[in-house]
Amino acid sequence: MNRTAQQRIEKMAQAHNLKDFKWIRPQSIITGEWVRMKCTYGCPRYGEKGCCPPEVPSVAECADFFREYQSGIFFHLAKRFKDPEMRFRWYREVNKRVLDLEKEVFLSGYHKAFLFLPAPCMLCDPCQASKRECRHPYLSRPTLEAFGVDVYATARKMGYPIQVLKDYREEMNRFGLLLVE
Ligand code: SF4
Repeated sequence: MNRTAQQRIEKMAQAHNLKDFKWIRPQSIITGEWVRMKCTYGCPRYGEKGCCPPEVPSVAECADFFREYQSGIFFHLAKRFKDPEMRFRWYREVNKRVLDLEKEVFLSGYHKAFLFLPAPCMLCDPCQASKRECRHPYLSRPTLEAFGVDVYATARKMGYPIQVLKDYREEMNRFGLLLVE
């Protein structure tokens, strides 16, 4: 993708109030089986989300998928909450913004546009927990973690901060990705 095309997409992102991002070569995204194991053993919501493991491809298939793209925008969203319960409303709001951007990029001619949400899909409560029964199949997207991405290693490689949080009141660093081609 040439610089003019990149600048056009960057303007679209900024119009959706997404200002902190870097272009990434998707081949450089780091995946790991350990990420899938953390979802399987340790996540209290394993099996409850239609876009999370086990309702996703294998880690090897996910890695192959990233290799099919030449470019993507890696988003950074930092946020701190006095009341940690407020984070869910923010997750919905940022997910909507990136979904709107994906739609705009797709409609502008990038037919392979594919989004990874910065927070798990929360369009329904409760989630149907199954891809086949998903209530909003046009809008449901996975997170990077769900696709086996080592977000810690990938974000650090991109020069972004990320660390293990001990408390929900600490500033969180969340990351999303829009593959563009
Ligand atoms: S759209 Fe609804 S049913 Fe589908 S994955 Fe998201 S929360 Fe679950």
